[in-house]
Amino acid sequence: MQQFLQDNSPTKTNETENELLCKRAQKGTLAPSGYYRYHSGRLRDKYVHVHVFEEEYGPLKPGEVVRHLCNNPWCVELTHLVRGSKKADIHDQLRSGTFNRQKLSVEQITEIRRLFKTTPKSATEIAKQFGIGERHVYKIVNGERWGKLES
Ligand SMILES: [Zn+2]
Repeated sequence: MQQFLQDNSPTKTNETENELLCKRAQKGTLAPSGYYRYHSGRLRDKYVHVHVFEEEYGPLKPGEVVRHLCNNPWCVELTHLVRGSKKADIHDQLRSGTFNRQKLSVEQITEIRRLFKTTPKSATEIAKQFGIGERHVYKIVNGERWGKLES
């Protein structure tokens, strides 16, 4: 594993390089989700990165989304955008911790499960510690959510 990580360091380097080249939208407002939105005359609010992508590659098909290779939702740099399925996009967001409906990172999920299973802490205490509901803790511990993250 150690050797694998050392031999494959370019992955990390590429991410850093991409981040340096990220471009913020010149127009639009930053939505709470981290994406830039803009108002256009004809259409309703649209994400700026989607607009940029569609201008270059044509409209998205139903069920398609524009994914960020750089994991920066606000980025509108064309080379960082790629066509993908909705499912893949959510996976990207989970990995980068920007999933809108979920405030917890993968590390925190792992920690919650560890605390619950290996310490005397109650679900109530853990819920308080992470600022989430008690039911949410049970769901995490029982694997109703995030089941796929544990491979
Ligand atoms: Zn970018």
